[in-house]
Amino acid sequence: MSSATTSSYPAQGGCLCGAVRYELKAPPDGSWICWCLSCRKTTGSICSANSHCKAKDFCITKGEEYLTLYKEAGTSSGQVFEGYFCRLCGCNIHTTSDVMRQEGSIIVTSGTLDEPHILEWKPTAEFFCMRKPGYMGTFQGTKTFVKMPEGH
Ligand SMILES: [Zn+2]
Ligand SMILES: [Zn+2]
Repeated sequence: MSSATTSSYPAQGGCLCGAVRYELKAPPDGSWICWCLSCRKTTGSICSANSHCKAKDFCITKGEEYLTLYKEAGTSSGQVFEGYFCRLCGCNIHTTSDVMRQEGSIIVTSGTLDEPHILEWKPTAEFFCMRKPGYMGTFQGTKTFVKMPEGH
């Protein structure tokens, strides 16, 4: 494992099976852990590591035809979230919504990066801690929020 603390850009990422690949031209504006029900169920894990990026910095470089859209209505914010996953391996790549499109932002699942250990991708906050299992502690150096704070 590299000990690099900054990535070279574009950073590379992709799904588990390798069919879908993407590039990010710049570091994320923010990275966090989310304990919400949607993140838990879409990842099949107990939480998700999400990175908020500028949509213009994100580019699918391979396998766009394998990306499948799942529209999730009924989220706590009232937004319809549009999650894109690889139909071959089920890996969640990115999420968008009408609000995010207006903002020019996109959420990329941090775990799909080839080098997620890079400090620029370190989560700085935990959202929806109201759903966090009692056996879990706090990640190192994160601010915790019961729900989603304003502005996210
Ligand atoms: Zn795949
Ligand atoms: Zn979430």
